[in-house]
Amino acid sequence: MDMEAKSCNNLTISKIIIPTLVSLKKEQKTSLVKVGNVVFGGSEVIVIGGPCAVESEEQLFETARSVKKSGAKILRGGAFKPRSSPYSFQGMGEDGLKLLSQISKETGLPIVTEVMDTRQLELVASYADMIQIGSRNMQNFPLLKEAGKCGKPVLLKRGLMATIEEFLNAAEYILYQGNNQVVLCERGIRTFETTTRNTLDLSAVPMLKHLSHLPVIVDPSHGTGLRWMVPDLSKAAVAVGTDGLILEVHFKPEIALCDGSQSLDLEEFTNLMSDMRKIASAVGREIL
Ligand code: PEP
Ligand code: MN
Repeated sequence: MDMEAKSCNNLTISKIIIPTLVSLKKEQKTSLVKVGNVVFGGSEVIVIGGPCAVESEEQLFETARSVKKSGAKILRGGAFKPRSSPYSFQGMGEDGLKLLSQISKETGLPIVTEVMDTRQLELVASYADMIQIGSRNMQNFPLLKEAGKCGKPVLLKRGLMATIEEFLNAAEYILYQGNNQVVLCERGIRTFETTTRNTLDLSAVPMLKHLSHLPVIVDPSHGTGLRWMVPDLSKAAVAVGTDGLILEVHFKPEIALCDGSQSLDLEEFTNLMSDMRKIASAVGREIL
């Protein structure tokens, strides 16, 4: 039985090639990635909260103050949005970055925000504490290379159709440029299933942690597309060993310009935080 399990395990691993810099070496622990005074990869499960997109001062500031009070450690909010339709709200651009930086100073929350193009990188990096590379750009190799040189920690989201091997190779591009401050994010993959926006692959968490030393976080908002499902899958993510979560939260999801149907309202987020604390302590982790 033991032998069987062993050979099965060897077979599984031998099918894929894990690039050097991201791979987990013998006895190695999860690497620590620092974003301001926040540390990914330790015993604390780091929660990132905030709106999908920065829409206005009122929307961002009210949401940010509330998620901070509930225990979020980092504020999210897109200023440059990758939208499927060119007619959809594309984000506030630099004005959005300015609002993020203003509320970051007030609340003390570091900010993570998306960069879609190498031409935006310098601007975004001048405001952000952590650069987000979105799903659609996971294999934008010039962007990965530049992110590797930008001097900021990077949140790399798994591509819509990316295998674990492709995901880890994308991260390798960033590390290869000398930036080892990378956090991996499972955000759901495209499958045959249509009831959810994506299929949240929670098995990616133990698999990535088995293969790589990089911290791994989960995005149940994009992973499901369904607000009512986000709390259960967030708790499941904590149970399965995630190092953090990124959650879309909006002060009025019903009027959100982007992804309102998967955004928690302020009270739902507060309640979820207290539920997740119980799961965290049951699995030897903590949410402060
Ligand atoms: C986001 O987090 O704002 C986003 C666009 O996510 P993804 O790249 O995972 O679709
Ligand atoms: Mn979104």
